[in-house]
Amino acid sequence: MSKKRIIKMVYKALKTSDGAGVSINRSIGTQQLSVVDPFLLLDEFSSDDPDDYIAGFPSHPHRGFETVTYMIDGKLQHEDSAGNRGELQSGSVQWMTAGKGVVHSEMPLQENGLMRGFQLWLNLPAKHKMMEPRYQNLEPSDIPEIMEEDYKVKVIAGEFQGIKGPVNGVITDPVYLDVTINPETEMQIAMPDNHNAVAYIFEGAVDLGEGLIDRGNLIVLSNEGDLYAKSGKDGARFLVLAATALNEPIARSGPFVMNTREEIMKAYEDFRF
Ligand code: MN
Repeated sequence: MSKKRIIKMVYKALKTSDGAGVSINRSIGTQQLSVVDPFLLLDEFSSDDPDDYIAGFPSHPHRGFETVTYMIDGKLQHEDSAGNRGELQSGSVQWMTAGKGVVHSEMPLQENGLMRGFQLWLNLPAKHKMMEPRYQNLEPSDIPEIMEEDYKVKVIAGEFQGIKGPVNGVITDPVYLDVTINPETEMQIAMPDNHNAVAYIFEGAVDLGEGLIDRGNLIVLSNEGDLYAKSGKDGARFLVLAATALNEPIARSGPFVMNTREEIMKAYEDFRF
């Protein structure tokens, strides 16, 4: 058994709203946990009440980081001011490196039914904050899924059991796994050392070393060793996210994340937002 990643802290996601009034559970990017370097924000949206999502995220800018949208259920339309347009459906991922700037909208393409997924913000290092924007649009069939008898793992970024995810060229070398585990099952997830790591539980409950933790909680892990997971009687589904820390100053305001206040002021000027 290799070294085991230990739990540093557990945070319950906070209910909040963003965009034009979309209900979300935010676990990173709050008063209690502003950042897990390089992760700046983690939002879960999950509702079958259209009032919770129908208003969507009308046109807004981003600069200085990457946004990763993972749809689990539902349909979302993405459109940016440069004319890039795409649909996110159940199981697809949009990895958008905003770099020097993108103005986009993210609007539901459904008027009822379940809408469920995640948005993650991943920081860029100072010298790449003003890079050209880049999109990696992944269809469900682009994302490998390792199916074992007791668990399955979708690999969006990084690798699991030697199978690599399709996301490439991201500076912080991220791992993004969606893990589903049957009831009362144990499994091991190999993780790269020196990566900051978190797990977000969104179905059931899982024990990562200190007892069962329920859905709606974010677990901040130590940065060495592998992850050992054991599910409760209802099984579990959780995200595992890891990446290299940047250890740089963070200046953030609304949709911009830079290194200094001056750069934030410049972003507001450039986008008149
Ligand atoms: Mn956005």
